[in-house]
Amino acid sequence: MGEVYAIASQKGGVGKTTTAISLGAELTRRGNKVLLVDVDAQGSLTASLGYTEPDSMSTTLATVLEKVVNEMRFEPKKFGILHHAEGFDLMPGNIELAGLEVSLVNAWSREMVLAKYVGQVKRYYDYVILDCMPSLSLMTLNAFSAADRVIIPVQAAYLSLKGLEQLIKTIGKVKRNLNTRLGIAGILITMLDERTRYAREIVELLQNTYGDNLRVFDTRIPYSIRAAEATAEGVSIFTHDPKGKVAAAYRELAGEVVSYE
Ligand code: ATP
Ligand code: MG
Repeated sequence: MGEVYAIASQKGGVGKTTTAISLGAELTRRGNKVLLVDVDAQGSLTASLGYTEPDSMSTTLATVLEKVVNEMRFEPKKFGILHHAEGFDLMPGNIELAGLEVSLVNAWSREMVLAKYVGQVKRYYDYVILDCMPSLSLMTLNAFSAADRVIIPVQAAYLSLKGLEQLIKTIGKVKRNLNTRLGIAGILITMLDERTRYAREIVELLQNTYGDNLRVFDTRIPYSIRAAEATAEGVSIFTHDPKGKVAAAYRELAGEVVSYE
């Protein structure tokens, strides 16, 4: 049975999608079978992996979840799953997820629809990685209901303790009410400008606020224009700039994540 990770933060542009791709690519490189799931109506994960017009795709996560809601049969191992050249699989997402989310509001077990799908598909993988949208929406609650662990990327320079507090509370509520397996893997400092002292101050602040209950990964992801270039090329950082500092950091992160399982 695969481990399921949700990459989440209600703050936009903190490196969730980049982390999902990079972690997925490195876990694949280590010999694991990995599925990346685009749980964001923006479809950035899908677009960042080379499917540059997600909204024109006919079969996506929205199609799959609609089938789950309507209790229609489909082959979870194959239906809608794409294979990326770097060896991992992708369940794409697009704008239709927004429409589906609205229709879910009155559905039975509306927070558990994604969990039902992931529950069927995870037996074929070692890791399933859910890339969440930047909000605590019903889709994100679905991701928390489906996940074993959450990785929370934060950009040190723009840390919002209030936002983090709200996110942690929500994860706690999901754990108590919907998914007892759920835990927080850790907070990941991203896009770090090494010339500033933010990272150390942030770690201290987080530890003073949350004690040792909340792990901050030792690995910090440095800022590099190479990361943005990889996104534009539809590949992971390991293909675009394998010897660079961002690739090195994500390699280290994968090691850290696996060691805490
Ligand atoms: P959203 O909230 O919109 O889903 P996100 O949290 O998923 O955003 P990303 O899309 O991963 O964030 O990153 C935002 C932008 O920053 C992208 O253009 C990406 O290429 C770039 N980026 C990601 N990581 C880094 C990094 N370490 N250094 C520099 N740029 C980065
Ligand atoms: Mg994203």
